[in-house]
Amino acid sequence: MVKDTSMTSPLFKLGLAALCSTLLASCAQSPTGRSQMLLFSPQQMSKLGADSFEEMKKQEKVSKDARMNAYVSCVAKAVTAQVPSQYGITSWEVVVFDSKQVNAFALPGGKIGVYSGLLKVAKNQDQLATVIGHELTHVLAQHSNERLSRSQLTGLGLAAADIAMGSSEYRGATMAALGLGVEVGVMLPYGREQESEADRLGLDLMARAGFNPAEAVPLWQNMSAAAGGKAPPQLLSTHPSNENRIAELQALQAEAMPLYEQARAAGLVPQCKA
Ligand SMILES: [Zn+2]
Repeated sequence: MVKDTSMTSPLFKLGLAALCSTLLASCAQSPTGRSQMLLFSPQQMSKLGADSFEEMKKQEKVSKDARMNAYVSCVAKAVTAQVPSQYGITSWEVVVFDSKQVNAFALPGGKIGVYSGLLKVAKNQDQLATVIGHELTHVLAQHSNERLSRSQLTGLGLAAADIAMGSSEYRGATMAALGLGVEVGVMLPYGREQESEADRLGLDLMARAGFNPAEAVPLWQNMSAAAGGKAPPQLLSTHPSNENRIAELQALQAEAMPLYEQARAAGLVPQCKA
């Protein structure tokens, strides 16, 4: 018999935190128990995500490669199907950008972008699911809301009202806070705690979808190996894969393995072909 762990999972608790923040800005708590200050409503974040995604589609070349699109969608669909319903995201838009960049992102409002260059480093469906699960967690755990809220408070020139309305004056700064490396050309790294959350819950999510969490370490090793090439992975600049991180990932992978086995036993066996 498959044991139902959905009510006790960090993802479930994370969903409650998201719900909580719609009621009271200060009561949010991250899945690892960090208290979060969130100044923006989920609705505002969704609008910022959607607007930024439209901007990305204008700035970057959208891939017309049918097979590549089908492959990325297959993986993204399987992972997003595991997002608990209390997040209220009813549909996901997945776009592949035709670019050498080794990168991917997710935005509030159910948007996922994958650069075709990532597929040279994420060599199979499980490795791609690792990246998508990680990026999705940044959204679900409201990391960009946290970052925007913080920059608002520390007076870095971002005005909440302007941001929320998608003012063009603040577009670049807003998109950077959402984790998009536009205009300035560099992506802002998230904090270490946020990264740990994204690694942990991202693996949880992908394993529940039936993807193999044992591929997380090889993925980040591939990423490091690609660092000496002509186009060093953008993702690596914000996700240093040093020995500490690899050791952490190994521990997390052991935690996620039972979820993977449960998913497989329940018939979740994704077969997305590159
Ligand atoms: Zn990250």
